[in-house]
Amino acid sequence: MEETIETVIVGGGQAGLALSYHLRALGREHLILERGRVAERWRSERWDSLTFQFPSWSIELPGHAYRGNDPEGFAPRDEVVRFLDAYRERIQAPVRTGVTVRAVRPKPGAPRFRVETDHGSYEAAHVVAATGPYQEPLLPAVSSALPPEVVQVHSSRYRNPGALPPGAVLVVGSGASGCQIVEDLLDAGRTVYLSVGRHRRVPRRYRGRDVFWWIREMGALDQTIAERPDGRQTPNPLVTGAGGGRDIDLRDYADRGVVLLGHLSGAAGQRLHFDDDLDAQLAKGDEGMTAFWKAADEHARRIGLETVPAEPDRPARPPLRRVTSPSELDLRAAGVTSLVWATGFRPDFSWIHLPALDAAGEPVHRRGVSPCAGLYFLGLPWLHKLKSSVLCGVGEDAQHLAERIASR
Ligand SMILES: Cc1cc2nc3c(=O)[nH]c(=O)nc-3n(C[C@H](O)[C@H](O)[C@H](O)COP(=O)(O)OP(=O)(O)OC[C@H]3O[C@@H](n4cnc5c(N)ncnc54)[C@H](O)[C@@H]3O)c2cc1C
Repeated sequence: MEETIETVIVGGGQAGLALSYHLRALGREHLILERGRVAERWRSERWDSLTFQFPSWSIELPGHAYRGNDPEGFAPRDEVVRFLDAYRERIQAPVRTGVTVRAVRPKPGAPRFRVETDHGSYEAAHVVAATGPYQEPLLPAVSSALPPEVVQVHSSRYRNPGALPPGAVLVVGSGASGCQIVEDLLDAGRTVYLSVGRHRRVPRRYRGRDVFWWIREMGALDQTIAERPDGRQTPNPLVTGAGGGRDIDLRDYADRGVVLLGHLSGAAGQRLHFDDDLDAQLAKGDEGMTAFWKAADEHARRIGLETVPAEPDRPARPPLRRVTSPSELDLRAAGVTSLVWATGFRPDFSWIHLPALDAAGEPVHRRGVSPCAGLYFLGLPWLHKLKSSVLCGVGEDAQHLAERIASR
């Protein structure tokens, strides 16, 4: 039997819940279908020691904000799960868990959709894909050329150092995930190699405020994709909330014994090859820091932020220490038994059988509204603004979609 629901939301993370809040406020019938549990990605697709990148005062969804006693601290994974659980409870979101959506198709003879799941099917006038910004692991082609005895794991499957076999670990990728994993491994006394990629450093704190305060204060969170057409290609700011929150300088990892390597370019048996681009990558990462300082100083001057003290200790530019990096690594000789791919994710909307995807499988939309009447996307990076995929930012797009749905 097919159940009829006005709006089906696919995905029970922050985006799906925020939309539920706004649809309920407008009195619209809806149902969230979630393949796992609410906040499943935080529960089972992140490592044990994961810490939020932004301070806890930024933890906020429509109608519900962080109420803990450490707003300047950084929430561990389990606290984020608790927040989302409490939110679901508070807004009484109608969620059906353990239901995987396998396909969404046009319903023959009606301007509606057929939503097929592993537990029956639904008929809906509106479908919203809220399946997250981080969907399928993205692995470089070289992953298939590695010797079979090296254990390979994507960051979404990495749990803790003890779950990897004894021996040295090669981490590929130096974004927020790669760096948190490197630190996790170092803290456990593991020998670590890090293949460095594109990254953009920012200071954890500047002139007495957290970087997230500055990003919000300078209006960057509200910049739209039309104003920042390069937004989706720009690396996210590299900063960590681990250990109470601190800057990340990859050269410090070298001081802690990590062997820094350039971009992983190929493999032949036990030998891996790396581009000679480490210095260039580190320098590019530093440019983010310099650009941030400049923009923050200009902003402070422009709006006369007298309450923010000047930063007397800020160096004129980041230290330009050189780090030596080998161009080849013999995995066996180096004792490398496992490799963590912190190489990001790709979208997977293959379950959407409607003309709303481009040739690369990327969703086609304008502020989440697809060209296919009644189909929407939510929670994607730069869906509309920089903050579109951020916990405290997704609510605005959710409200926009809820109003569109209610007005149809
Ligand atoms: C190291 C790190 C630090 C971070 N720090 C911050 C931070 O400080 N602040 C911040 O705002 N964000 C942070 N993030 C980002 C945050 O994790 C994501 O932006 C957030 O999880 C996105 O929420 P979402 O609801 O859009 O998607 P998800 O949380 O991915 O939710 C999507 C849901 O859809 C479900 N689903 C997928 N496919 C189907 C299907 N076919 N059928 C049914 N259900 C399906 C999934 O199980 C999942 O539960 C961080 C991420 C990382 C990795």
